[in-house]
Amino acid sequence: MAQLNSHYLKLKAGYLFPEINRRVKAFTDANPEGAARLIRCGIGDVTEPLPEAVREALHKAVDEMGTRSGFRGYGPEQGYEFLRHAIAENDYRSKGLEVADDEIFVSDGSKCDCGNILDIFGHDNRIAVMDPVYPVYVDTNVMAGHTGEGDDKGLYSGLVYLPCNAENGFVPAIPKEKVDIIYLCYPNNPTGTVATRGQLEAWVAYALANDAVILFDAAYEAYIKDSSIPHSIYEIPGARRCAIEFRSFSKNGGFTGVRCAFTVVPKDLLCTTSSGEKKPLHPLWNRRFSTKFNGVGYITQRGAEALYSPQGKEQVAALVEHYMGNAAILRAAAAKCGLETFGGENAPYIWVRAPKGSSSWDVFDKMLNQANVVITPGSGFGPAGEGYFRISAFNSRANVEEVARRLSAVF
Ligand SMILES: *Cc1c(COP(=O)(O)O)cnc(C)c1O
Repeated sequence: MAQLNSHYLKLKAGYLFPEINRRVKAFTDANPEGAARLIRCGIGDVTEPLPEAVREALHKAVDEMGTRSGFRGYGPEQGYEFLRHAIAENDYRSKGLEVADDEIFVSDGSKCDCGNILDIFGHDNRIAVMDPVYPVYVDTNVMAGHTGEGDDKGLYSGLVYLPCNAENGFVPAIPKEKVDIIYLCYPNNPTGTVATRGQLEAWVAYALANDAVILFDAAYEAYIKDSSIPHSIYEIPGARRCAIEFRSFSKNGGFTGVRCAFTVVPKDLLCTTSSGEKKPLHPLWNRRFSTKFNGVGYITQRGAEALYSPQGKEQVAALVEHYMGNAAILRAAAAKCGLETFGGENAPYIWVRAPKGSSSWDVFDKMLNQANVVITPGSGFGPAGEGYFRISAFNSRANVEEVARRLSAVF
């Protein structure tokens, strides 16, 4: 009898979004009028159309592929040189950060990269995640057999959870115990908060002292407004020896439906073999790409390249400006209702503390039933999220202004 991967059976049945959908459906079935008024500020997907520079580049690439001389079949698995170069040059070298073109690996998304990266690590690492957390980091480790069973709060034995709350500014304290792999996400989803240079320096120092690796998810770096906040982990000296960075075109270029992202794996990053030798991770990730991936489509990569053209940069800035304008409106509206708000200044999410005595789900139900607005209950991202809720700024301006009005009617 063929055996299945029984680690999958430990996964909690994707509790958060199915439960949200169940409650929304129960509400809309019972309230056709409320259903018509419903505004979704729950899920982290962009809403605004693709930048013009991208559309033009995509069209042009399609036409090229339709000619004998411009047709391309399989490309380099790691990405076309034109895109790897544009990324390394614009996102790193022009900012004084040392990253070589061949340290960039172009993929179809950061979600996939965050999961796939586990292929190049051993199975006996101590793994630390933030709580609340982007669920992909946890679930991919469960699937890989790196955890024990989950409890009814959704915590898995074998993982080290780093609580993030108002008291620590949503940046976890350095753990007292030794861990080998640490997932950090800044600007953060779900809390919309950022880590300062000093806080990131402390994490890099910890990683270097403990031979640990930081998996740094910078999917929201384009939203940073405060010039003192690092956009890349490589702004911290020493990070090339201890960190992998994930970036995506999903949130800056509106690529959630186009699909393109990249990882940076510096050649200076070494890990230990089972016999205690130190070896670089870069050749392993390179080999993984060649063996298990056939590259992102040429057309998509030309679309991503266009985000780095002068027009592309302007159009990305306008998109970010739009969403951050939304965030400011939502943050101010929540604050005006007397709610305590976090994030939303360097990220498109506002993290709001529920009124005293209310749980995350209490607020969810109140917002759904009284305001006909869908938010995300903080407890769905981990126990430390209990008592908070997330409002997403990914929406049209008209919807956001309406949500702001409805917030004040409810609180
Ligand atoms: C949206 C998001 C990503 C990007 O995922 P893609 O697969 O590239 O669309 C990565 N990390 C976090 C935390 C996100 O919210």
